[in-house]
Parts: sequence; C-alpha cells; structure tokens
Amino acid sequence: MLDCRNVSVSYDGKPVVEDISFGLAPGDCLRVVGENGSGKSTLMKGLLGLLPLSGGGTVFRVSRDEVGYLPQQTPARGDFPASVMEVVLSGRLNRRRFSPFYTRRDRASAEENMERLGIASLAGKPYRALSGGQQRRALLARALCAVGKLLMLDEPSAGLDPLAASQVDALLEKLNQEGMTLIVISHDLKSAARPGGKVLHMRKKTLFLGPSEDYAKTALYRHMTAPEGGRGF
Ligand code: ADP
Repeated sequence: MLDCRNVSVSYDGKPVVEDISFGLAPGDCLRVVGENGSGKSTLMKGLLGLLPLSGGGTVFRVSRDEVGYLPQQTPARGDFPASVMEVVLSGRLNRRRFSPFYTRRDRASAEENMERLGIASLAGKPYRALSGGQQRRALLARALCAVGKLLMLDEPSAGLDPLAASQVDALLEKLNQEGMTLIVISHDLKSAARPGGKVLHMRKKTLFLGPSEDYAKTALYRHMTAPEGGRGF
C-alpha cells in the first residue's frame, strides 16, 4: 500500500526526520510513537507531500485521492460558522475536479460517514456548538469521506477527555477491522503496544520498527512506560 524508503525531512537544513523506512500492507495499522518533538508530525507531512523530503522517497500503491489525513488539532476557532454537515462534506473537496457543487454521491458519503460515527443527528448543528469529542468525530467523518483506503491521523485523541478518547480509539479499531489501513501518531505507548498492530518508535531516526507484540517486550517500551518516566532513551 505504501513504501517509505529512507525518508528524511529538514527544516532550514536542520534534519528533523532521518532515514525512516517502513512498508505498509493493506489492512495494517502502524502507530507512530515518540516523545514530543521527535519528528512524528513532520514525517507524516513528508509522506503526504505537504513538506519536501530532503532524502529518500515514498511509493504509494493507492491513488492519492484515496488517502485521508486528519491533521493535529488546534483549538477550534470560536467563530467557525459551518454546520456539521458542511464540515463533513468538505472532505469531498479533493474528489471534485472541476465542479463547484457537491454531487448526490458526495452527500450520500457524508451522511453514511456521519451515521458510521454516530453523529448523524448533529448534521444541522453548528460545528462550534459540539463537544470536543463530537467535533473530533465530525473531523474523522470528514477524513473518511475523502479516504478510500489509507487514513493518516495525527494524534486523533489528543485533548479529548478519557471517554471521548477511548471512543475515537474504538472507532479506529473498527475501521481497521473493516479493512482500512491506518497510520496513527499517538502519545499512548500502551495502546500502541496492544497486539495486532505495527509500531514505529522514533526520535528523529527509528528506535524501533516491528510488530506491537515485539515492541511490548523491548527495553525501550518498558523504560518509557516505567513509573519514573522515559528519560535516557
Ligand atoms: P512531533 O510530532 O514528534 O512532536 P514535530 O514533527 O512536530 O514532532 O517536530 C519535530 C521537530 O521539528 C521539533 O524540534 C520542532 O520544533 C521542529 N519543527 C516542527 N515544525 C517546524 C517548522 N515549521 N519549522 C521549523 N522547525 C519545526
């Protein structure tokens, strides 16, 4: 589905991501973990072509318009006027080549994904009136409208209360079970170590890459999840 080969990304000549390689097969879930500032978001933007690579390359085996992206959340602007339906529909924007109008299929896809995420009843509400967890679901529905096969998410549950965060987590698990390939940047090492996925633990370079079952056994994981914290790695 995606090959990432020796990818490096720099800001102003300063390397922030160095020599990262991994392969993703259809249905994989790769969790990218590491401390703040370790280059996770930069790597994802590099993969998406939002930042130029300073080395290496990517090979996508899906078309670019089948790749969805949920960027890291910045606090929502209080005056954001759109309805939930409009926010979700805007996920279809990159599918529309020349038409300024949404098609019936766009609307059907928006409705289907709102249904899927349990926010269909909120469609007509102003986006800003939603709780943090509901807003995140609306943005997930938006990303799902854009996506066919591969979804990249930058800390999808950051800033949510524990209940909303676990709901988002459960949704992602369900999507993955339905066959969606996922790359998820996460702070949560423990959920990354749950069996069944792949883990990339990075700090500019790769510290670990492999199945989550193996990750859970590493000294790196044990050290980072020890009560005294993750200093030293
Ligand atoms: P993470 O997602 O792991 O927290 P980031 O990819 O956001 O890490 O950042 C990696 C490093 O790149 C950090 O040192 C950060 O300060 C730096 N950085 C991020 N964005 C920019 C930018 N636009 N310009 C310059 N440096 C940046």
